[in-house]
Amino acid sequence: MEPRRLHALLLRCRPLGESDLMLDFFSRELGRITALAKGAKRSKRRFFGLLEIGHHLEIEVEPGRRGDLWLLMSARLLDPHLGLRQDWRKLLLAGPVLELLLRASAPHDPQPGALALALDTLARLERGRGASESAAALAVFLMRLLSELGFALRLDCCLHCGKPAAQIGEPRLSLDGGLVCPACPPGRKAIAAPPGLVAFLRAAQTMEPAALGRLRLSPALARPGLAYLADFWREISGHDLPALGLAIGLEG
Ligand SMILES: [Zn+2]
Repeated sequence: MEPRRLHALLLRCRPLGESDLMLDFFSRELGRITALAKGAKRSKRRFFGLLEIGHHLEIEVEPGRRGDLWLLMSARLLDPHLGLRQDWRKLLLAGPVLELLLRASAPHDPQPGALALALDTLARLERGRGASESAAALAVFLMRLLSELGFALRLDCCLHCGKPAAQIGEPRLSLDGGLVCPACPPGRKAIAAPPGLVAFLRAAQTMEPAALGRLRLSPALARPGLAYLADFWREISGHDLPALGLAIGLEG
């Protein structure tokens, strides 16, 4: 490993001993990495005001002594996402963005699309006015991160029999990974999808990124839709995802 300059989102910050900080980043170039910031806890000078979770930074790292651990040499702030910190509701909704990158991505697995999606989502939450806009931003993130990481939901037809979505009168959403028609066994767990939910999820999955900001999700669809996506994420990540649970409680 050689010294690297990375664009990265700070996901988690843990004190280590008297003076150091252990940091988890999601970087455009290397995916998720862990870096040690020596002296960052005691001497605030070098990284003053920089090492806050949710900060988008340009960082310089050098290989550490342990194989997969980096040493943080410098950091420069690209975007503090200040709008999120000025509103506790927005901050709570941003929690799952960081939590999922931390819990669902593999270390040193570059996923530049996932970082771009996370930054777009934070910007959307920051700007967002009203619950239907922020619920849509969170649902879009949950849907598109599945696709980025190779777990895309199947929504164009029934998972089991292949019946096209347009011909399914009372669709269900299954934790097996997408749409199930009423004639097929529901699998492990399935919810009845209220009218409009499948269409919203398909739009969130397939729309051009530039158009996604126009999506809105009404409270009637946000509750079951976000709960289903959270259950599916818990299944595939193997974590209980408390930040996602809190954000959904806020929408419900
Ligand atoms: Zn079927």
